[in-house]
Amino acid sequence: MAVSSVKAYCITRRRGSLLRAAAVAIVTHLAVATLHAQQPSYPTAWRSAILSRPDIKGALAHLERGFPKQVDEWITIAEMPGKSGSEEKRGAYVQQVMEQEGLQVSVDSLGNVTGVRKGAGGGPSIVLAAHLDIVHGLDVNLQVRREGDTLRAPGIFDNSASVANMLATIRALNAGGIRTKGDLIFVATVREEIGLRGIDFWLDHHPRPDLLIGLDGGLGPVAYGALGIYWTRYVFTSEGSHTATSRGKPTPVKALAEAIDGIYKLGYGPLPDGAVINVGQVHGGVIFNGVPEELYFTTDLRSTDPVLLDSLDRSIGRLVANAAAREKVGLRVERELQNGAGGTTAMLAPARAHPLVQTAVDVQQHLGIRTGPPGAGDAIAIGSTDANMGVIRRIPSIAIGRSYGGNQHTIHEWADWKSALPATKLMLLLAVTMSDSSLRSDLVP
Ligand SMILES: [Zn+2]
Repeated sequence: MAVSSVKAYCITRRRGSLLRAAAVAIVTHLAVATLHAQQPSYPTAWRSAILSRPDIKGALAHLERGFPKQVDEWITIAEMPGKSGSEEKRGAYVQQVMEQEGLQVSVDSLGNVTGVRKGAGGGPSIVLAAHLDIVHGLDVNLQVRREGDTLRAPGIFDNSASVANMLATIRALNAGGIRTKGDLIFVATVREEIGLRGIDFWLDHHPRPDLLIGLDGGLGPVAYGALGIYWTRYVFTSEGSHTATSRGKPTPVKALAEAIDGIYKLGYGPLPDGAVINVGQVHGGVIFNGVPEELYFTTDLRSTDPVLLDSLDRSIGRLVANAAAREKVGLRVERELQNGAGGTTAMLAPARAHPLVQTAVDVQQHLGIRTGPPGAGDAIAIGSTDANMGVIRRIPSIAIGRSYGGNQHTIHEWADWKSALPATKLMLLLAVTMSDSSLRSDLVP
């Protein structure tokens, strides 16, 4: 649309002012048409089809009644240790609840807990994934403090809220006697915080689901993209030397300094369509009076644009290799994480139009869930959750929020407990709507 508007204007400049006025009118018309085309209209058919059903009403009433217990369970889970790789206690708890509720439960070798709620058949299979792990170590005090509407504890927001919401949804589906068409596959994942490794492993070892819903992040815009994240360690090596004999000898310190300086001089734009890079660790050397034998620094490179991400990664690789060669020191490159990017907003236009995204936005609107500051949009082509692994596998995938809250990944984490109720209703209504294939086919554009 922008191209044809510019073209119309150029033609007018050549042919004179009369035509210019006409072209301005056309451009204005086009601009208004564009605006209308961009005004998203969301499918609302689910509202009449789903909300009037007695089983749905029963399930929602059960959620309301059981909400105080849901908050108690949320606190119970949050107070269990859950550092990435040490999620066993939380996993065992989720497994027990899933078994009590009659799901087909399995635990894989990494510790992911899967509970399948079989559908009647004929609908899409939907994975609903909430990560069990937290960034906080086993020595951190996880005791939860309640202050009015606020819960405070490390990990209370990210992501014990989603785990509790998931268990409440399972109970409510059973209490309402809801029979979905497609299977609902609830997965409590491990190791999300160290590179989405749990869900990555899960998707590699299970049949491909039709849809994937990540349960993570604060309530806000529906996230349908995937921020690509590369973690790399660049290690410089040398033979080392005593300071007294070091003059003129190769030193990895100079190579490291040149490389880091070069990285910060690279030009790139801001997120989301641009990229960001951070040097998070610089380590090496153990004594004052010697040339170090080994030094390293790490990079955390991020972008939603897979092309930009890879080209920046190659530029950094060349720059580091050149610095090592110039200073005549050894170089070892260690890839710690390489999670692909889902694509920019423009690249993901078809994903944005998918019924999963559209319906999620409309369910949020129906429930009065705030999506963020005005102009931020109802859905965003970015994400750093379990849903990323679905996005890069081209499975229609989104992430929906768990509650309002903040200060995640710090010991000052907090959550607004009341907002977990609409978040749980969102999960339930979205799962039921999307699993009903007859309704789903109405929604497919
Ligand atoms: Zn999280």
